[in-house]
Amino acid sequence: IMNEKNESLAIELSSLDRRHLLHPSTNPKLQAETGPKLIFTGAEGIYLHDMSGQKYIDGVSMLWNVNLGHGNKELAKAAYDQMVNVAYASSFYGYANEPTVRLAEKIASLTPGDLNTVFFTSGGSESNDTAFKLSRFYWQLQGYTEKRTIISLKRGYHGVTVSAQRATGIEVYREFSGSTDPDIVNAKAHLTECELGDRSHPEYEGCIRSIIEKLGKDKIAAVIVEPIQGAGGVHIPPEGYLQAVRKLCDEFNIHLIADEVICGFGRTGKMFGVDHWDVVPDFMSIAKGITSGYIQLGGVVMREKIRDAFTSYDGMLAHGFTYSGHPAACAVGLKNIEILERDGLIEKARKLGEQLEKGLLYLEDKYEFVSGSRVKGLLAGFDLMKDSDKNIPFEESVKASVSVVDEAYQRGLLIRPFDFEPGMNIVAIAPPFITADNELERIINIVDDSLAAFS
Ligand code: PLP
Repeated sequence: IMNEKNESLAIELSSLDRRHLLHPSTNPKLQAETGPKLIFTGAEGIYLHDMSGQKYIDGVSMLWNVNLGHGNKELAKAAYDQMVNVAYASSFYGYANEPTVRLAEKIASLTPGDLNTVFFTSGGSESNDTAFKLSRFYWQLQGYTEKRTIISLKRGYHGVTVSAQRATGIEVYREFSGSTDPDIVNAKAHLTECELGDRSHPEYEGCIRSIIEKLGKDKIAAVIVEPIQGAGGVHIPPEGYLQAVRKLCDEFNIHLIADEVICGFGRTGKMFGVDHWDVVPDFMSIAKGITSGYIQLGGVVMREKIRDAFTSYDGMLAHGFTYSGHPAACAVGLKNIEILERDGLIEKARKLGEQLEKGLLYLEDKYEFVSGSRVKGLLAGFDLMKDSDKNIPFEESVKASVSVVDEAYQRGLLIRPFDFEPGMNIVAIAPPFITADNELERIINIVDDSLAAFS
């Protein structure tokens, strides 16, 4: 039902896109052949509108980042007000500006323990590369010249800059372009309890503890974990896991980096993912939810001891991005946190999570091929299996998660499939925190109808 003007604009944009735009995380051949799947022209609340006037529910908050939902005028105004004041000023060479300083202080007040100093970046990948470099630099300052290795987890996703890419435990990303950072080791065990020290555990060889024992603690700078893995398919660690990894890092004098890029700022129903397990990492990477995606911003928060080592260093901290501490981005970050707190949205995310969990358990009951539903706040996923009781996956030719997500798309709901390992069929749901109860019910109903259409 596109009017003529929109139709010719859609044709024009599609042809320009196919000719001039290379899309991230997209099949480029298919893109060049078919053009964009949707061209968004408007967005409000949990809805996105495309050129034909069709409305879609944003069931994963785009990239799990639009936490306050679309069309928030307060965030837009915060950017506008800052832009007409000081749109851009650098934090290089000792310059400062108010929103950057205020946001650093605000973040310090929210992060657990003595995570009190922020280094700003423009996003999650930059934050993780920064955390790796700062961890390695810290050890150099302490006289440990060989403490460089970063240990990361299977199915962890940490971004696409070279070191973050190599830390990512999803092969298609990790291997892309053959980039290397020789000092990164990806664990083969997946969120098992063998970190607690049980050497007879079948996956012991692939766990963090075993890697530390093999390499030697004096070669290892840090371990990086997402408190809850997102792009690896939404995996919540077993109880005691994060605490065990924290203890392991203490035992061997190794930093713990928590990648809070998805979890941070309320997504899981608490301010940070680590807050569910009362773990204080040495570095925390943040991005996405800090501005609800309205403008690019990221950062690394570090503990006092690390900050003290850096502030005792009388040389150049030769690391920084042009947009480290961008004033307009920081003003949006401040407003975003103010709204989260004022409107009780993190508690709301927690409560909506309970409703979502009930919905997914109902679907597990109803469909034999649905299992493994997991929910923390508004971060949720479930598995599709040929026989979930017997743990038998679908044949590789059956693209179950892609099919279900496509059925949902046909019904006006955007959710996300994961099938990057043989037999893996995971669906993720992560709507904005401003989702109303009846809107969440609608999301669950559409998923129900999509599962029925697939079965
Ligand atoms: N870390 C996590 C946990 C992420 O989910 C992502 C992005 O999805 C990143 C890092 C990378 O962030 P960015 O895409 O902003 O570089």
